[in-house]
Amino acid sequence: DAAINRIAAGEVVERPASAVKELVENAIDAGATRIAIDIADGGKTLIRVTDDGCGIAAEDLPLALSRHATSKIDGSDLLNIHTFGFRGEALPSLGAVGRLTITSRVPGADAAQVHVAGGKMDAVKPAALRAGTVVELRDLFYATPARLKFMRTDRAEAQAITDIVKRLAMAEPSVTFALRDVSGGGEGRVTFRADRENGDLFDALHARLARVIGREFAENALQIDASRDGIRLYGYGALPTYSRGAAVTQYLFVNGRPVRDKMLTGALRAAYFDFLSRDRHPAAALFIDCDPTLVDVNVHPAKSEVRFRDPGVARGLIVSSLRHALAEAGH
Ligand code: ADP
Ligand code: MG
Repeated sequence: DAAINRIAAGEVVERPASAVKELVENAIDAGATRIAIDIADGGKTLIRVTDDGCGIAAEDLPLALSRHATSKIDGSDLLNIHTFGFRGEALPSLGAVGRLTITSRVPGADAAQVHVAGGKMDAVKPAALRAGTVVELRDLFYATPARLKFMRTDRAEAQAITDIVKRLAMAEPSVTFALRDVSGGGEGRVTFRADRENGDLFDALHARLARVIGREFAENALQIDASRDGIRLYGYGALPTYSRGAAVTQYLFVNGRPVRDKMLTGALRAAYFDFLSRDRHPAAALFIDCDPTLVDVNVHPAKSEVRFRDPGVARGLIVSSLRHALAEAGH
């Protein structure tokens, strides 16, 4: 039923930035090396994500737009439905609350396009595209006026989009990202860009963090790499002398996806406790990798919360490895 689908969709897509997150994550999952994001009017009238990933075959386009159809899990993988979050929800949701056009091409075949608006899908038709996928979302929430009212100013929504694109860019240093504001038409204005970083895990990550957070953070960052009980923690934590004032510079990722989590930020505070003051917060970009069965990212489709099966292990790892690194650096 279309009305129920629209309500469910509003749960998955709360604002333009959550649509951008879903679309960019799809591009990353498709193995893209270049991802371009164009937005207009804070993403309210246009979000367009262009990638050079594997593409979607013409015959699979309608499937990609139907609920719970995902190429990323199969029936034998029931457990992973819980661990990888709400699957096969994003594209159908976006097609229910906006005007969605997907153009895609897989190697060796012709490009095809499908359009869906307010949950109604047109027939797949031939299209022109060299490679990869272009997903264009226009007039987000036009079909759900109540949602529309809750959107903030174009400027605030654009800022939220920049924030999520930066977080995703930190997690994928070998991918080139370009975010453009094309409000009012024309070439638009590049608001964020990060070209692919080369080198090993830490070199590439360090360079990407310098690009995204800033050179000063990177120059004052201690490398972290520790493992315990099947959980690996790596990344960079800033020296206590690095201070961005009251600005919050905390970026946390679980299995490659940006998360906001009270337990993890609490652990960060505990690690830096001796150095904190009213205008001095811990600054860090930390990645937790673990077996997907040890963490539940399925708490809420649109919220990036996580629940560890054993929160004590993740917390302990953050506190002990940061304290150790700080002590080694003479703090
Ligand atoms: P999920 O990502 O959870 O599988 P989505 O609704 O986000 O669900 O996407 C549905 C399917 O469409 C994906 O499983 C994938 O097969 C395909 N898809 C979506 N976006 C892309 C893309 N940019 N490139 C290639 N395939 C894509
Ligand atoms: Mg997806």
